[in-house]
Amino acid sequence: MPTFAALGLAPPLLSAIDALGYAEPTPIQAQAIPLILKGRDVMGLAQTGTGKTAAFTLPILHRLLGGPRRTRVVILSPTRELCLQIEGNVRQYAAGSGLEVAPIYGGVGYEAQEAALAGGVDIVAATPGRLMDHLEKQHVVFDDLEVLVLDEADRMLDMGFAPQIQAIVGQMPSWRQTLLFSATMPPEVEVLARKYLRKPVVVQVGRRSSAASTVRHVVYPVPRPRKTALLAELLRTEAAEGPVLVFTRTKAGADRVVRDLEDAGIPAHAMHADKGQAQREQALADFKDGRVRVLVATDIAQRGLDISGITHVVNYDVPQQAEDYVHRIGRTGRAATSGDAITLMCADEIGTVRLIERVLGQEIPRVSKAGFDFGT
Ligand code: AMP
Repeated sequence: MPTFAALGLAPPLLSAIDALGYAEPTPIQAQAIPLILKGRDVMGLAQTGTGKTAAFTLPILHRLLGGPRRTRVVILSPTRELCLQIEGNVRQYAAGSGLEVAPIYGGVGYEAQEAALAGGVDIVAATPGRLMDHLEKQHVVFDDLEVLVLDEADRMLDMGFAPQIQAIVGQMPSWRQTLLFSATMPPEVEVLARKYLRKPVVVQVGRRSSAASTVRHVVYPVPRPRKTALLAELLRTEAAEGPVLVFTRTKAGADRVVRDLEDAGIPAHAMHADKGQAQREQALADFKDGRVRVLVATDIAQRGLDISGITHVVNYDVPQQAEDYVHRIGRTGRAATSGDAITLMCADEIGTVRLIERVLGQEIPRVSKAGFDFGT
Protein backbone atom coordinates (compact mmCIF):
# COMPACT_ATOMS: atom_id res chain seq x y z
CA MET A 1 0.00 0.00 0.00
CA PRO A 2 1.45 3.45 -0.88
CA THR A 3 1.76 6.08 1.85
CA PHE A 4 -0.48 9.16 1.91
CA ALA A 5 2.60 11.26 1.00
CA ALA A 6 3.28 9.06 -2.04
CA LEU A 7 -0.25 9.77 -3.26
CA GLY A 8 0.83 13.39 -3.71
CA LEU A 9 -1.25 15.08 -1.00
CA ALA A 10 -0.10 18.50 0.23
CA PRO A 11 1.62 18.99 3.64
CA PRO A 12 -1.35 20.52 5.55
CA LEU A 13 -3.41 17.46 4.63
CA LEU A 14 -0.63 15.06 5.59
CA SER A 15 -0.44 16.78 9.00
CA ALA A 16 -4.20 16.40 9.50
CA ILE A 17 -4.03 12.72 8.53
CA ASP A 18 -1.13 12.26 10.95
CA ALA A 19 -3.08 13.93 13.74
CA LEU A 20 -5.93 11.47 13.15
CA GLY A 21 -3.50 8.58 13.40
CA TYR A 22 -4.19 7.03 9.98
CA ALA A 23 -1.12 4.89 9.22
CA GLU A 24 -1.81 4.23 5.54
CA PRO A 25 -4.52 4.75 2.95
CA THR A 26 -7.33 2.19 2.76
CA PRO A 27 -7.70 0.38 -0.61
CA ILE A 28 -10.48 2.71 -1.84
CA GLN A 29 -8.34 5.72 -0.85
CA ALA A 30 -5.21 4.35 -2.56
CA GLN A 31 -7.16 3.83 -5.78
CA ALA A 32 -9.44 6.84 -5.85
CA ILE A 33 -7.17 9.64 -4.58
CA PRO A 34 -4.72 9.69 -7.54
CA LEU A 35 -7.60 9.61 -10.05
CA ILE A 36 -9.45 12.45 -8.33
CA LEU A 37 -6.24 14.51 -8.13
CA LYS A 38 -5.94 14.08 -11.91
CA GLY A 39 -9.43 15.50 -12.35
CA ARG A 40 -11.11 12.29 -13.48
CA ASP A 41 -14.77 11.53 -12.82
CA VAL A 42 -14.95 8.55 -10.47
CA MET A 43 -17.60 6.06 -9.45
CA GLY A 44 -16.29 4.60 -6.19
CA LEU A 45 -17.82 1.39 -4.93
CA ALA A 46 -16.52 -0.02 -1.69
CA GLN A 47 -17.91 -1.72 1.36
CA THR A 48 -19.28 0.33 4.21
CA GLY A 49 -16.81 1.72 6.73
CA THR A 50 -13.77 1.55 4.48
CA GLY A 51 -12.86 5.22 4.40
CA LYS A 52 -14.88 6.54 1.45
CA THR A 53 -15.30 10.01 2.93
CA ALA A 54 -11.56 10.64 3.11
CA ALA A 55 -11.18 9.06 -0.35
CA PHE A 56 -13.02 11.98 -1.90
CA THR A 57 -12.43 14.72 0.67
CA LEU A 58 -8.61 14.62 0.75
CA PRO A 59 -8.00 15.10 -3.00
CA ILE A 60 -10.74 17.75 -3.14
CA LEU A 61 -9.08 19.74 -0.34
CA HIS A 62 -5.72 19.39 -2.05
CA ARG A 63 -7.17 20.94 -5.15
CA LEU A 64 -8.82 23.84 -3.27
CA LEU A 65 -5.72 24.89 -1.32
CA GLY A 66 -4.73 28.48 -1.92
CA GLY A 67 -7.61 29.20 -4.31
CA PRO A 68 -10.25 31.94 -4.16
CA ARG A 69 -13.08 31.57 -1.60
CA ARG A 70 -16.02 30.60 -3.78
CA THR A 71 -18.46 27.71 -3.67
CA ARG A 72 -16.24 25.33 -5.57
CA VAL A 73 -17.42 22.00 -4.16
CA VAL A 74 -20.84 20.57 -3.31
CA ILE A 75 -21.14 17.26 -1.44
CA LEU A 76 -24.69 15.88 -1.44
CA SER A 77 -25.90 13.18 0.93
CA PRO A 78 -29.36 11.79 1.74
CA THR A 79 -29.84 12.56 5.45
CA ARG A 80 -29.22 15.47 7.81
CA GLU A 81 -27.12 13.29 10.08
CA LEU A 82 -24.87 12.18 7.26
CA CYS A 83 -24.56 15.76 6.04
CA LEU A 84 -23.37 16.84 9.51
CA GLN A 85 -21.00 13.91 9.71
CA ILE A 86 -19.45 14.76 6.34
CA GLU A 87 -19.10 18.39 7.45
CA GLY A 88 -17.32 17.20 10.61
CA ASN A 89 -14.97 14.98 8.60
CA VAL A 90 -14.19 17.77 6.14
CA ARG A 91 -13.36 20.05 9.07
CA GLN A 92 -10.97 17.46 10.51
CA TYR A 93 -9.17 16.90 7.23
CA ALA A 94 -9.14 20.65 6.49
CA ALA A 95 -7.64 21.61 9.86
CA GLY A 96 -4.73 23.91 9.06
CA SER A 97 -5.68 24.47 5.43
CA GLY A 98 -7.89 27.53 5.97
CA LEU A 99 -10.77 26.13 3.91
CA GLU A 100 -14.39 26.74 4.94
CA VAL A 101 -17.28 24.28 4.87
CA ALA A 102 -20.97 24.95 5.53
CA PRO A 103 -23.58 22.28 6.33
CA ILE A 104 -26.90 22.94 4.61
CA TYR A 105 -29.78 20.70 5.72
CA GLY A 106 -33.46 20.84 6.59
CA GLY A 107 -35.29 20.95 9.89
CA VAL A 108 -33.47 24.04 11.16
CA GLY A 109 -33.77 27.78 10.44
CA TYR A 110 -32.52 29.40 7.24
CA GLU A 111 -30.81 32.47 8.70
CA ALA A 112 -27.58 30.91 9.97
CA GLN A 113 -27.17 28.95 6.75
CA GLU A 114 -27.85 32.02 4.64
CA ALA A 115 -25.27 33.98 6.63
CA ALA A 116 -22.69 31.20 6.24
CA LEU A 117 -23.26 31.09 2.49
CA ALA A 118 -23.13 34.89 2.21
CA GLY A 119 -19.85 34.93 4.14
CA GLY A 120 -18.29 32.68 1.50
CA VAL A 121 -17.47 29.00 1.78
CA ASP A 122 -15.33 26.69 -0.30
CA ILE A 123 -17.34 23.53 0.31
CA VAL A 124 -21.07 23.07 0.80
CA ALA A 125 -22.13 19.78 2.41
CA ALA A 126 -25.86 19.52 1.82
CA THR A 127 -29.03 17.51 1.64
CA PRO A 128 -30.83 18.13 -1.68
CA GLY A 129 -34.13 19.66 -0.49
CA ARG A 130 -32.63 22.47 1.57
CA LEU A 131 -29.95 23.19 -1.04
CA MET A 132 -32.73 23.62 -3.61
CA ASP A 133 -34.43 26.15 -1.32
CA HIS A 134 -31.24 28.21 -1.03
CA LEU A 135 -30.66 27.99 -4.77
CA GLU A 136 -34.16 29.27 -5.46
CA LYS A 137 -33.58 32.17 -3.09
CA GLN A 138 -30.22 32.76 -4.76
CA HIS A 139 -28.31 32.43 -1.51
CA VAL A 140 -25.83 30.29 -3.39
CA VAL A 141 -24.67 30.20 -7.02
CA PHE A 142 -22.72 27.53 -8.80
CA ASP A 143 -20.84 29.67 -11.37
CA ASP A 144 -17.50 28.60 -9.91
CA LEU A 145 -18.42 25.07 -9.02
CA GLU A 146 -15.65 22.59 -9.82
CA VAL A 147 -16.56 19.36 -8.05
CA LEU A 148 -19.86 17.64 -7.28
CA VAL A 149 -19.89 14.63 -4.96
CA LEU A 150 -22.91 12.37 -4.57
CA ASP A 151 -22.38 10.30 -1.44
CA GLU A 152 -24.63 7.25 -1.08
CA ALA A 153 -25.04 7.79 -4.80
CA ASP A 154 -27.60 5.09 -5.50
CA ARG A 155 -29.93 6.51 -2.87
CA MET A 156 -29.44 10.02 -4.27
CA LEU A 157 -30.47 8.84 -7.72
CA ASP A 158 -33.50 6.76 -6.73
CA MET A 159 -37.07 7.94 -7.13
CA GLY A 160 -37.14 10.01 -3.95
CA PHE A 161 -34.27 12.33 -4.78
CA ALA A 162 -33.77 12.06 -8.56
CA PRO A 163 -35.84 15.14 -9.56
CA GLN A 164 -34.05 17.35 -7.00
CA ILE A 165 -30.64 16.09 -8.08
CA GLN A 166 -31.56 16.75 -11.71
CA ALA A 167 -32.56 20.33 -10.85
CA ILE A 168 -29.43 21.00 -8.79
CA VAL A 169 -27.03 19.51 -11.32
CA GLY A 170 -28.80 21.49 -14.05
CA GLN A 171 -27.44 24.68 -12.45
CA MET A 172 -23.85 23.45 -12.33
CA PRO A 173 -21.24 24.01 -15.03
CA SER A 174 -20.96 21.05 -17.39
CA TRP A 175 -17.17 21.05 -17.08
CA ARG A 176 -17.29 20.16 -13.40
CA GLN A 177 -15.73 16.99 -11.99
CA THR A 178 -18.31 14.52 -10.66
CA LEU A 179 -17.65 11.86 -8.04
CA LEU A 180 -20.14 9.18 -7.03
CA PHE A 181 -19.58 7.00 -3.99
CA SER A 182 -21.61 4.18 -2.52
CA ALA A 183 -21.36 0.72 -1.06
CA THR A 184 -24.18 -0.39 -3.31
CA MET A 185 -25.08 0.41 -6.92
CA PRO A 186 -27.91 -1.61 -8.45
CA PRO A 187 -27.37 -1.93 -12.26
CA GLU A 188 -30.50 0.07 -13.12
CA VAL A 189 -29.29 3.00 -11.00
CA GLU A 190 -25.83 2.80 -12.53
CA VAL A 191 -27.35 3.55 -15.95
CA LEU A 192 -28.83 6.74 -14.51
CA ALA A 193 -25.62 7.55 -12.64
CA ARG A 194 -23.57 7.45 -15.80
CA LYS A 195 -25.63 10.32 -17.23
CA TYR A 196 -23.97 12.59 -14.68
CA LEU A 197 -20.42 11.39 -15.31
CA ARG A 198 -17.90 12.08 -18.06
CA LYS A 199 -15.67 9.15 -18.99
CA PRO A 200 -15.80 7.85 -15.43
CA VAL A 201 -13.32 5.45 -13.95
CA VAL A 202 -15.03 2.83 -11.82
CA VAL A 203 -13.08 2.04 -8.69
CA GLN A 204 -14.45 -1.04 -7.01
CA VAL A 205 -13.06 -2.63 -3.90
CA GLY A 206 -14.54 -6.03 -3.15
CA ARG A 207 -17.67 -7.50 -4.67
CA ARG A 208 -20.50 -5.10 -5.42
CA SER A 209 -23.29 -4.98 -2.81
CA SER A 210 -21.23 -7.22 -0.61
CA ALA A 211 -21.45 -6.95 3.12
CA ALA A 212 -18.38 -5.82 5.03
CA SER A 213 -16.30 -8.91 5.76
CA THR A 214 -15.81 -7.76 9.34
CA VAL A 215 -19.47 -8.50 10.19
CA ARG A 216 -20.84 -11.84 11.43
CA HIS A 217 -24.43 -12.42 10.35
CA VAL A 218 -27.15 -14.48 11.91
CA VAL A 219 -30.90 -14.81 11.43
CA TYR A 220 -33.20 -15.67 14.32
CA PRO A 221 -36.49 -17.20 13.14
CA VAL A 222 -39.11 -15.87 15.59
CA PRO A 223 -42.90 -15.40 15.59
CA ARG A 224 -43.70 -11.72 15.04
CA PRO A 225 -45.38 -11.19 18.45
CA ARG A 226 -42.25 -12.52 20.17
CA LYS A 227 -39.79 -10.17 18.46
CA THR A 228 -39.59 -7.58 21.22
CA ALA A 229 -39.19 -10.22 23.93
CA LEU A 230 -36.37 -11.82 21.91
CA LEU A 231 -34.74 -8.43 21.37
CA ALA A 232 -34.84 -7.75 25.12
CA GLU A 233 -33.38 -11.19 25.77
CA LEU A 234 -30.55 -10.60 23.28
CA LEU A 235 -29.84 -7.24 24.90
CA ARG A 236 -29.39 -9.09 28.19
CA THR A 237 -27.24 -11.91 26.77
CA GLU A 238 -25.31 -11.85 23.44
CA ALA A 239 -25.60 -8.10 23.08
CA ALA A 240 -25.26 -7.20 26.76
CA GLU A 241 -22.18 -5.02 26.26
CA GLY A 242 -21.59 -2.15 23.92
CA PRO A 243 -23.82 0.02 21.77
CA VAL A 244 -26.60 -1.67 19.78
CA LEU A 245 -28.38 -0.12 16.80
CA VAL A 246 -31.86 -1.54 16.10
CA PHE A 247 -33.71 -0.92 12.81
CA THR A 248 -37.48 -0.98 12.45
CA ARG A 249 -39.48 -0.51 9.25
CA THR A 250 -41.77 2.22 10.56
CA LYS A 251 -41.55 5.30 12.77
CA ALA A 252 -44.40 4.05 14.96
CA GLY A 253 -42.61 0.71 15.20
CA ALA A 254 -39.47 2.42 16.49
CA ASP A 255 -41.45 4.28 19.16
CA ARG A 256 -43.23 1.10 20.19
CA VAL A 257 -40.02 -0.91 20.51
CA VAL A 258 -38.49 1.85 22.65
CA ARG A 259 -41.54 1.87 24.93
CA ASP A 260 -41.53 -1.91 25.28
CA LEU A 261 -37.79 -2.04 25.96
CA GLU A 262 -38.10 0.66 28.60
CA ASP A 263 -40.95 -1.30 30.19
CA ALA A 264 -38.54 -4.24 30.28
CA GLY A 265 -35.99 -2.05 32.08
CA ILE A 266 -33.73 -1.40 29.07
CA PRO A 267 -33.27 2.31 28.33
CA ALA A 268 -33.41 3.16 24.61
CA HIS A 269 -33.87 6.17 22.32
CA ALA A 270 -35.81 6.37 19.06
CA MET A 271 -34.60 8.24 16.00
CA HIS A 272 -36.83 8.80 12.97
CA ALA A 273 -38.14 11.46 10.63
CA ASP A 274 -41.11 12.48 12.81
CA LYS A 275 -38.77 13.64 15.57
CA GLY A 276 -37.66 17.26 15.55
CA GLN A 277 -34.14 18.02 14.37
CA ALA A 278 -32.99 18.79 17.92
CA GLN A 279 -34.37 15.46 19.17
CA ARG A 280 -32.73 13.59 16.30
CA GLU A 281 -29.38 15.17 17.06
CA GLN A 282 -29.77 14.58 20.79
CA ALA A 283 -30.68 10.90 20.32
CA LEU A 284 -27.65 10.37 18.11
CA ALA A 285 -25.32 12.31 20.42
CA ASP A 286 -26.52 10.34 23.47
CA PHE A 287 -25.90 7.12 21.60
CA LYS A 288 -22.47 8.18 20.31
CA ASP A 289 -21.35 9.38 23.72
CA GLY A 290 -22.58 6.25 25.49
CA ARG A 291 -25.37 7.93 27.51
CA VAL A 292 -27.83 5.46 26.01
CA ARG A 293 -26.77 2.02 24.82
CA VAL A 294 -29.65 1.20 22.50
CA LEU A 295 -30.79 3.35 19.57
CA VAL A 296 -33.91 2.27 17.66
CA ALA A 297 -34.08 3.91 14.26
CA THR A 298 -35.77 3.80 10.89
CA ASP A 299 -33.91 3.90 7.61
CA ILE A 300 -32.78 7.51 8.18
CA ALA A 301 -29.93 5.99 10.20
CA GLN A 302 -29.14 3.22 7.79
CA ARG A 303 -26.60 4.86 5.52
CA GLY A 304 -23.19 6.27 6.14
CA LEU A 305 -23.34 6.96 9.87
CA ASP A 306 -19.92 6.32 11.36
CA ILE A 307 -20.36 5.54 15.04
CA SER A 308 -17.40 3.80 16.52
CA GLY A 309 -17.80 0.66 18.55
CA ILE A 310 -21.34 -0.45 17.63
CA THR A 311 -21.14 -4.13 18.58
CA HIS A 312 -24.50 -5.25 17.19
CA VAL A 313 -26.92 -4.14 14.53
CA VAL A 314 -30.35 -5.72 14.90
CA ASN A 315 -32.86 -5.81 12.07
CA TYR A 316 -36.07 -5.90 14.09
CA ASP A 317 -37.85 -5.97 10.73
CA VAL A 318 -36.22 -7.55 7.69
CA PRO A 319 -35.32 -4.73 5.28
CA GLN A 320 -37.18 -4.75 1.97
CA GLN A 321 -34.08 -4.42 -0.22
CA ALA A 322 -30.76 -6.23 -0.13
CA GLU A 323 -29.03 -2.84 -0.48
CA ASP A 324 -30.73 -1.66 2.70
CA TYR A 325 -29.46 -4.75 4.48
CA VAL A 326 -25.88 -4.03 3.36
CA HIS A 327 -26.05 -0.42 4.55
CA ARG A 328 -27.74 -1.19 7.86
CA ILE A 329 -25.32 -3.87 8.93
CA GLY A 330 -22.50 -1.63 7.72
CA ARG A 331 -23.07 0.50 10.83
CA THR A 332 -21.06 -2.13 12.68
CA GLY A 333 -17.74 -3.76 11.81
CA ARG A 334 -16.31 -0.38 10.79
CA ALA A 335 -12.68 0.53 10.20
CA ALA A 336 -11.58 -3.11 10.45
CA THR A 337 -13.19 -3.85 13.84
CA SER A 338 -15.67 -6.71 14.00
CA GLY A 339 -19.39 -6.62 14.66
CA ASP A 340 -22.53 -8.74 14.69
CA ALA A 341 -25.60 -8.37 12.52
CA ILE A 342 -28.73 -10.01 13.89
CA THR A 343 -31.91 -10.26 11.85
CA LEU A 344 -35.22 -11.19 13.48
CA MET A 345 -37.25 -13.05 10.88
CA CYS A 346 -40.91 -13.98 11.24
CA ALA A 347 -42.71 -16.39 8.92
CA ASP A 348 -43.82 -13.83 6.33
CA GLU A 349 -40.29 -12.46 6.04
CA ILE A 350 -38.63 -15.72 4.98
CA GLY A 351 -38.88 -14.89 1.26
CA THR A 352 -37.27 -11.46 1.74
CA VAL A 353 -34.37 -12.96 3.66
CA ARG A 354 -33.80 -15.46 0.82
CA LEU A 355 -33.72 -12.59 -1.69
CA ILE A 356 -31.16 -10.74 0.42
CA GLU A 357 -29.03 -13.86 0.61
CA ARG A 358 -29.13 -14.21 -3.17
CA VAL A 359 -27.92 -10.63 -3.73
CA LEU A 360 -25.26 -10.96 -1.02
CA GLY A 361 -24.10 -14.23 -2.51
CA GLN A 362 -23.98 -15.84 0.88
CA GLU A 363 -26.26 -17.76 3.17
CA ILE A 364 -26.91 -16.29 6.57
CA PRO A 365 -26.82 -18.92 9.33
CA ARG A 366 -30.07 -19.52 11.22
CA VAL A 367 -29.85 -19.73 14.97
CA SER A 368 -32.65 -20.16 17.43
CA LYS A 369 -33.07 -19.29 21.00
CA ALA A 370 -34.96 -21.67 23.24
CA GLY A 371 -38.48 -20.43 23.77
CA PHE A 372 -38.43 -17.99 20.85
CA ASP A 373 -38.30 -20.03 17.65
CA PHE A 374 -41.16 -20.81 15.27
CA GLY A 375 -41.98 -23.99 17.13
CA THR A 376 -42.98 -22.19 20.32
P1 AMP B 1 -16.08 6.12 6.19
O1 AMP B 1 -16.17 4.85 5.35
O2 AMP B 1 -15.65 7.28 5.36
O3 AMP B 1 -17.31 6.39 6.97
O4 AMP B 1 -14.89 5.89 7.25
C1 AMP B 1 -14.92 4.87 8.20
C2 AMP B 1 -13.98 5.12 9.35
O5 AMP B 1 -12.63 4.86 8.97
C3 AMP B 1 -13.98 6.56 9.89
O6 AMP B 1 -14.09 6.49 11.29
C4 AMP B 1 -12.65 7.12 9.49
O7 AMP B 1 -12.17 8.03 10.45
C5 AMP B 1 -11.77 5.90 9.43
N1 AMP B 1 -10.68 6.01 8.42
C6 AMP B 1 -10.77 6.57 7.21
N2 AMP B 1 -9.59 6.43 6.54
C7 AMP B 1 -8.74 5.77 7.35
C8 AMP B 1 -7.38 5.33 7.24
N3 AMP B 1 -6.67 5.54 6.15
N4 AMP B 1 -6.84 4.69 8.31
C9 AMP B 1 -7.57 4.46 9.43
N5 AMP B 1 -8.87 4.84 9.60
C10 AMP B 1 -9.45 5.49 8.57
